[in-house]
Amino acid sequence: MERKKRGSALHVNEGVDQPASLNSRWLEQSKKRSRRQLSSAEFVSGILSGDRVVLSKAITLVESNRPGDYQMAQEIIEKCLPYSGDSVRVGITGVPGVGKSSFIEALGTFLIKHGHKLAVLAIDPSSQRSKGSILGDKTRMETLAGSNNAFIRPSPSAGSLGGVARKTRETIILCEAAGYHNVLVETVGVGQSETAVYELVDFFLLLMLSGAGDELQGIKRGIMEMSDAIVINKADGDNVDAARQAERQYANALHLFPAKESGWAPKTNTCSAITGNNIPQVWEMIRQFITLTKKNGAFARKRQEQEIHRMYESINERLQNDLHQNQTVKKMQEEMEQRITRQEVSAYVAAQQVFETYKKSREQG
Ligand code: GDP
Repeated sequence: MERKKRGSALHVNEGVDQPASLNSRWLEQSKKRSRRQLSSAEFVSGILSGDRVVLSKAITLVESNRPGDYQMAQEIIEKCLPYSGDSVRVGITGVPGVGKSSFIEALGTFLIKHGHKLAVLAIDPSSQRSKGSILGDKTRMETLAGSNNAFIRPSPSAGSLGGVARKTRETIILCEAAGYHNVLVETVGVGQSETAVYELVDFFLLLMLSGAGDELQGIKRGIMEMSDAIVINKADGDNVDAARQAERQYANALHLFPAKESGWAPKTNTCSAITGNNIPQVWEMIRQFITLTKKNGAFARKRQEQEIHRMYESINERLQNDLHQNQTVKKMQEEMEQRITRQEVSAYVAAQQVFETYKKSREQG
């Protein structure tokens, strides 16, 4: 059999090895090409033409902590800003296991089928894994991960929540400029990260399960209050009735919250990320929200408020960095730590002295 094949035209002959020198020189050049830093204009034109490799590289600059990269990233973002904004930004939260990744896979697949493009980002400052959290979930986002119409970016590696939120906000701008006009931002429903996501998105969606009290689901009242919709996931199989019952309970609970400034009355629904049941209805709900808030001005107002919030956040971040990088301040802080330990000075007075030192050193240039 083997011998027969050899004689056949179907047999693929083993290729002749290329001379090593040729190969390695070509490889070296190709490495150099990819290593060469693009100019900010090259970055911008790459992003605007939808080049995913360039987009990824630009996001890496945004996530970098090197001052040179930061500068470059800011230049790119400034130029991309006019091309961003025409988008729908949706935040998705819920405890681990509620089905966020599966839901994003289902909603994303639905959107792609209807001709949309989407970016999937995550905020998870607790993640110590260098590759962030979403990547681990990629197995649950198989269709999206394999589609050119979806751009999935894992959460930047652990850092301060403010830092991670800023990086995500800047990543949103780049993704939108690259043509991903639907942005889904996922966060684990524990800690403060929901508030950070709320500050980044237009619509905030809380996924819940039936049959578990909210205490069990670790959801704080404040998060329910922030939500524009509560959707009970896993409404399939034997769980459909329980999900509907939970939905009614959450609908009643939502009535107790004060009316939203946006004029939107938060909605509830049930869905199944696995069967896809009600996924189009959830998207329709989001669209209704966008239509209403664009009409009554709340959409633009919220984005403006977010922008102002971001300015203050950015001022704080810069001040903090400047303060902590100042060597004179550093020495003073160490001295104050010791004096506090010896109970010679109160924390308040110590902080005041550190700040005075900082001010003086700034004045002296
Ligand atoms: P995440 O931690 O919130 O991102 O949740 P995952 O998407 O990883 O889902 C957690 C588990 O719940 C997985 O085993 C999923 O297959 C399952 N799951 C997610 N959505 C549904 C659903 O709608 N119905 C059912 N039956 N299982 C689901």
